[in-house]
Amino acid sequence: MVGDISKRKAECSTCGGERNCYVRAEHQWRVDSEDISAHRLYQILECAGCEHTFVRVGYTNSEDYASWDDGHGNEEKEYIEHIEYLPALAKRARPEWLDSLFLSWPPGESRLYEVLDEVYKAIDAGLVMLSAVGVRTAFDVVAAKLGVDAALSFEEKLDELLSSNHIRSDERAHLAVLIEAGNAAAHRGWFPRQDELVTLIDLLERFVTQTVIEPEAAKRRDAELAAIRDGVPPKQKRLPKPKLGSEPAKSENRRGP
Ligand SMILES: [Zn+2]
Repeated sequence: MVGDISKRKAECSTCGGERNCYVRAEHQWRVDSEDISAHRLYQILECAGCEHTFVRVGYTNSEDYASWDDGHGNEEKEYIEHIEYLPALAKRARPEWLDSLFLSWPPGESRLYEVLDEVYKAIDAGLVMLSAVGVRTAFDVVAAKLGVDAALSFEEKLDELLSSNHIRSDERAHLAVLIEAGNAAAHRGWFPRQDELVTLIDLLERFVTQTVIEPEAAKRRDAELAAIRDGVPPKQKRLPKPKLGSEPAKSENRRGP
C-alpha cells in the first residue's frame, strides 16, 4: 500500500543529496510555557531511491526565527528549523569495497571493517583527532593481516612491509607520515585540518586497496578461472591424416589369397 505512505524530501547519505523519502514512522514532542515553546519532529525515513533508512530530527522554537516586513508595515516571520540526522550525514563517501571486507572475512575476524567503519563514522561526526588515531589503528590491523608481528615498532613494521614487497620505498615514506600523524593525535592531542585528514584517508584507502582488496580479488579471479578451466571439455585429439599416394592400411584380419 505504497500509495498510503506519505513522502518528504530529505538528505540521503548514501545517494549524496536531497531525495524523496518515505516516512515510515514519526513522533512529535513539544513543550509550551509562558516564555518559550519548542517542537521536535522525529521521523524514520527511507530513501525512495536507494532504500537507505535513517532518522531525521527537525527542531524549532519560538525564539529562533527570521522576520521581515511584508511591504505594508506588517511583520512576517518564519521559524528556523534545525535538522539533525542519525546516523550523521556522510562527510566522505565509503569506498565501494568496504562492505566486501565485512562479507569476505571469516566470522569474528572482520576487525579491519570494524576499525574503518568507526573511522568513517568519526569523520562524519567531525571528530578529526579520533579519526587520525583510527587511521593509524587501521594501518596496524592491515599489517597484522599481512603477517607482520604486532609487537614490532612502527618503523620495523614498515621495514618488513617493504622487504616483503607489500609496499615500495616511496610508499614507506608516505605511511611513516600517516603513522606519525596518528601518534601525534593519540599522544599529543593534534587536531588535523580537514584537508590534512582527507590526505591521510586517501593514503589509507590506497594502502588497503593495494595490500588487501586487490590481492583478494586476484585470488578470487584465479579460483574462478581454474573452475572454468576444469569445466571446459578437453580438445579431442586429431587422428593422423593418411599420406597422399600411400596404400591403405591393411587389415590385420584380412585373409590372404
Ligand atoms: Zn538514497
